[in-house]
Amino acid sequence: MRQETKCIQAGYTPKNGESRMIPIIQSTTFKYDTSEDMGKLFDLEASGYFYTRLQNPTNDMVAAKLADLEGGCAAMLTSSGQAASFFSVFNLASAGDHVIASSSIYGGTFNLFNITMRKMGIDFTFVDPDCSDEELEAAFKPNTKVVFGETLANPALIVFDIERFANAAHAHGVPLIIDNTFATPINCRPFEWGADIVIHSTTKYLDGHDATVGGCIIDSGKFDWMAHADKFPGLTTPDESYHGITYAEKFGNEGAYITKATAQLMRDLGSIPSPMNAYILNLGIESLAVRVERHCKNAQKVAKFLQSHEKVAWVNYPGLESNKYYERAKKYMPNGTSGVVSFGVKGGRKAAEEFMKHLKVAMIATHVADAHTCVLHPASSTHRQLTDEELIAAGVSPDLVRFSVGIENIDDIIEDLAQALESV
Ligand code: PLP
Repeated sequence: MRQETKCIQAGYTPKNGESRMIPIIQSTTFKYDTSEDMGKLFDLEASGYFYTRLQNPTNDMVAAKLADLEGGCAAMLTSSGQAASFFSVFNLASAGDHVIASSSIYGGTFNLFNITMRKMGIDFTFVDPDCSDEELEAAFKPNTKVVFGETLANPALIVFDIERFANAAHAHGVPLIIDNTFATPINCRPFEWGADIVIHSTTKYLDGHDATVGGCIIDSGKFDWMAHADKFPGLTTPDESYHGITYAEKFGNEGAYITKATAQLMRDLGSIPSPMNAYILNLGIESLAVRVERHCKNAQKVAKFLQSHEKVAWVNYPGLESNKYYERAKKYMPNGTSGVVSFGVKGGRKAAEEFMKHLKVAMIATHVADAHTCVLHPASSTHRQLTDEELIAAGVSPDLVRFSVGIENIDDIIEDLAQALESV
């Protein structure tokens, strides 16, 4: 099946007389005839369900769809994108280990790594995604366990060189995790460029309607854990908390990573989505291919319009030929990048504030990447406590407006931008 068909049909095939839509199994628990039957599930000797904190059929159907869309072999849903980022790394690294991450990642992920996970004893080195080979090489340590980057960084819109970072990670015997939230599997499939694990904030384009917070982790099944057994004892030695199972031995490269994340992390930390939320997410994914195409088409027109407007100081969109990442975007995302465009209004912070007041179609929201056109001026909202100097140091210029182009009629979006800019 091609991507457009998978969006609709992957993950669930109804049998004769069964419901056309995925069933919502809104049940915490599952009944068995004998204790032996249930015992086999606890021992991971048989597959099935016993308690929704570990696994639920509705959630698994949606996870299977996402695994198929990314070209992976196993996946799990999480209650948020943050949980997916945390689990994906914590499944491989623990106290005393080291992780290399791109310095240009979503602020919430940066905070999770740099503050919270450091408190758990995990060390991080943040590298510029455009660093030299020597700088990247120098970041690796003997205790490095994983490399992490974002296909298209939120909010900087830097296109990550997945192939280059995958080669570097593999040369050091560690996997590459890619946050593919902004690109979605419609525009980029990181496994085809060497990534080993993909995560998503499904809250963004995958749901696409501002309806459910969620996340997903997908394993390519390609990383050979046993070949690097000394680095990943959690996968290659017996798990005493789970009947002495050695995940990589029992489930192989295709099953070890997600089984461990389910049996250990979900069991202990419990960040599952409700089946109802998984159902809503699935509804969103059904129209993903159509929506992403429209987002990119609309955003390209918005970027071009802004680029030629006399009141606009600069525009950042990788689909513009003048953009620093245009060629790299063509390689990794030939059909388009995303609907997110950032730009500066001439006149700095005051002018941008004024511009925001006049928008009528674009809604002011902290969110990005969904059907509604939404807009944020960080200097007067999320970052309002910072001075102009502090904003620049944080990589957010005072005039910066983040514009997430939705799937409304493009003429309405452009007319809205034009009248708001005229009013400045
Ligand atoms: N990754 C990226 C690229 C994001 O943009 C976000 C949220 O904005 C997250 C992860 C975190 O996801 P969530 O808000 O679903 O926890």
